[in-house]
Amino acid sequence: MLEKPRLFGNLVTQVIGPNLCTFCGACMAACPVNALWPVVEQPTIVGTCALCEICYYQCPTIEFSRDDVELFLFRRTRRPDEPIGIVSGAYVGRASATNIQSRGQDGGVVTALLAHALDSKMIDAAVVAGRDSLWRPKPTVATNYDQLVQNAGTKYTPTPTLLGLRSAIDEFGKSRVAVVGTPCQVKAVRRIQTSPLGNLRLADAIGLTIGLFCMESYGYVDLVGNYLTSKGIDSATVTKVGIKKGSFIAWEGDKELLHVPLKEIDKFVRQSCKQCDDFTAEYADISVGAIGSPSGYSTIIARTEKGLDLVKRAEKAGYVELRELPQSEKGFQKVLNMAQMKRLRKAVQKTESA
Ligand SMILES: Cc1cc2nc3c(=O)[nH]c(=O)nc-3n(C[C@H](O)[C@H](O)[C@H](O)COP(=O)(O)OP(=O)(O)OC[C@H]3O[C@@H](n4cnc5c(N)ncnc54)[C@H](O)[C@@H]3O)c2cc1C
Repeated sequence: MLEKPRLFGNLVTQVIGPNLCTFCGACMAACPVNALWPVVEQPTIVGTCALCEICYYQCPTIEFSRDDVELFLFRRTRRPDEPIGIVSGAYVGRASATNIQSRGQDGGVVTALLAHALDSKMIDAAVVAGRDSLWRPKPTVATNYDQLVQNAGTKYTPTPTLLGLRSAIDEFGKSRVAVVGTPCQVKAVRRIQTSPLGNLRLADAIGLTIGLFCMESYGYVDLVGNYLTSKGIDSATVTKVGIKKGSFIAWEGDKELLHVPLKEIDKFVRQSCKQCDDFTAEYADISVGAIGSPSGYSTIIARTEKGLDLVKRAEKAGYVELRELPQSEKGFQKVLNMAQMKRLRKAVQKTESA
């Protein structure tokens, strides 16, 4: 008997309906007839479906095989003593350029690495997260240094990054594109590259992935639209937001506009984040986060050969200042602890919903 095709309706019942959609944008980016588009932070059918099944087979939430992806990236799977995936080098560092340091979220390392990747022609564009004046994030194609710097900094609400990859190919004619994203977005990239029905046009254009450590992201309408407004904050005046030592902080320049315990915004965490067990973007070429490093610096984990090579070249070329972070050091142990906390949260969710 022929199997029933797996269509967008299956994504609705298996992923979107049960609040497991991470809003990575993979299904929408891969749709060959542009029938899918974001509506209120979720993929929605807005055109006529071609019944091709492509959208279903890009989704990283279903049928993601850790082993397949690790074999694809590293030609081996992780050992039991590699709880955060395969690590080929760990560092504490920051961008050398002072304008990147001041614009970046932590050490500005992501932006500096992308700048070197562009300058050395390893990539011809990078998909980053831009934002409008009201902090609504959007996938943005950066093709030069100024655009990278302009879009530095963390947006804590999700953006369908994979739509940016499609735009880099279709609208900008790029073919070696870096994708920056949260662990779920990196998983989407790897799903596209390893799925039996992966969209080859997207897969072939991926030149680099830089993953961001991530415990969770928040719904835009809840966090920015409603919560900040209820606190009397006009989001247009906010220049930076951050999470530090258990607090959520919004700044206008050097002035703190809001400083509240993280617990207060816990209710706005996206449900899909609670089902995720990847804190360090285990399938990225390079992963970068704040935890494990002093303020003003980033923690860097190089994973693939390509990732390690870029980190070393960027240091040699003077784009980043680095020191090695031994796995025995407290900073690295903090990363392991956060990763463990995220795995435990998922396990608890699973037990509660069983
Ligand atoms: C939702 C979220 C939650 C995070 N939670 C943690 C955490 O719990 N612990 C921790 O140590 N680090 C966390 N991070 C990572 C941290 O905030 C910094 O992004 C990271 O340390 C890199 O800093 P940087 O100064 O090197 O990067 P920068 O040089 O500032 O560059 C950051 C890059 O990330 C892109 N970007 C920003 N927001 C998004 C987004 N939502 N989706 C895709 N790309 C984006 C920017 O466009 C830019 O290219 C989180 C990041 C995000 C987006």
